[in-house]
Amino acid sequence: MLEKVVIANRGEIALRILRACRELGIKTVAVHSTADFNQKHVLLADESVCIGPPASKDSYLNMPAIISAAEVTDSVAIHPGYGFLSENADFAERVEKSGFIFVGPKPETIRMMGDKVSAIRVMKAAGVPCVPGSDGPLGTDPDETFRIAREIGYPVIIKASGGGGGRGMRVVHSDATLINAINVTQAEAQAAFGNPEVYMEKFLEKPRHIEIQVLADHYGNVIHLGERDCSLQRRHQKVIEEAPAPGISPKQRKAIGDRCIAACRDVGYRGAGTLEFLFQDNEFYFIEMNTRVQVEHPVTELVTGIDIVKAQLRIAAGEQLPWTQNDITIRGHAIECRINAEDPKGFIPSPGPVKLFHPPGGPGIRVDSHLYSGYVVPPFYDSMIGKIIAYGEDRDTAIARMKNALSEMVIEGIKTNIPLHQEIFNHAAFKAGGLDIHYLERRLGIK
Ligand code: ADP
Repeated sequence: MLEKVVIANRGEIALRILRACRELGIKTVAVHSTADFNQKHVLLADESVCIGPPASKDSYLNMPAIISAAEVTDSVAIHPGYGFLSENADFAERVEKSGFIFVGPKPETIRMMGDKVSAIRVMKAAGVPCVPGSDGPLGTDPDETFRIAREIGYPVIIKASGGGGGRGMRVVHSDATLINAINVTQAEAQAAFGNPEVYMEKFLEKPRHIEIQVLADHYGNVIHLGERDCSLQRRHQKVIEEAPAPGISPKQRKAIGDRCIAACRDVGYRGAGTLEFLFQDNEFYFIEMNTRVQVEHPVTELVTGIDIVKAQLRIAAGEQLPWTQNDITIRGHAIECRINAEDPKGFIPSPGPVKLFHPPGGPGIRVDSHLYSGYVVPPFYDSMIGKIIAYGEDRDTAIARMKNALSEMVIEGIKTNIPLHQEIFNHAAFKAGGLDIHYLERRLGIK
């Protein structure tokens, strides 16, 4: 097993990684900004290193500082978590060149999947169904662009090849606004991702977001852990996730899972990964692959009994997957609510001191959060302060438990989106399941 691991992240996922390391007997090094000296995982880690001032670009995105921290602490590996440098191929490469293990896929795989145009190309070649689209970056000839749009059929969506985090996308309904939308998206993409390349896809009007979790080792063994439904979104950002996806049959799961396994084998994938799909009229359409652990990984852990973060560490240590596909069974139902420090109506971030924190409990309730009474939520980072995950033998039980948990949770001093979750859990449509990705915004009156 790995001897000592640097946790190159913050917040709930840093704590999650620390717990997995401790279970495996791995020593931990927390790296943190000056704003995060009192984070729970920093206090619990075997060692900690301050890597810079609060701004992410000077700390959690500061590659030399993180690699130096690994050097001075004699660590053997770096776990990037999600966000920050987790999908930065240059970082993975520098980590490996410096003699450390990057807990994730090979740098070239990250690079290939990080460019959505090349990811779609690879998936298509492996027989994974994709959204009808331009099959490559858009060029400069407007006539050709109009031709592609008409062939796909309006509405279309212009997407940045290097995009992420729900940014760099624009829906177009007719020829009249097409060229302008492309120009604006290109300029935005250049500014946000340093890559102006954009492509075009059919804009699906009522899809669900369904994604497949995979695990692969260094020896070509690949399995999938079923799907998650992440259709409840605001501004293309997930709010509630669940597993399994309501209404997906074992036959459908196997068919799409087999395609994902084949694609991962083709590209020599290793580690944990997620293939994201839109699902409409009983068809799956690949949109992108995430080459890291995801925020919503716990719902899959609860229905499969597999610890995804421990699996990442074991794979990074060179162990073989201890499971074959036949060992994987989906049991019960799990739902996750992302808890954000924000105004539940205006969604304005609400950092500040947490005067009182009481997490919920009871059967089937898991809370992944770095909060504690007296902790101060800094204003510099993502507003997510934790996740409640509810498990039950069926979806109704998971929902009932989540409603209990939401009403038990006490967070005083800052505003949170708990009231929004409570409202959603009272919607008849949510109880029925199978909602599309536009439902929440329609319901909130945003669309
Ligand atoms: P990101 O990397 O920024 O998360 P994705 O490609 O994963 O971008 O898309 C994020 C979300 O945007 C999807 O979950 C979906 O809500 C919406 N979206 C993306 N592509 C399409 C499409 N072709 N039609 C409709 N909605 C889309």
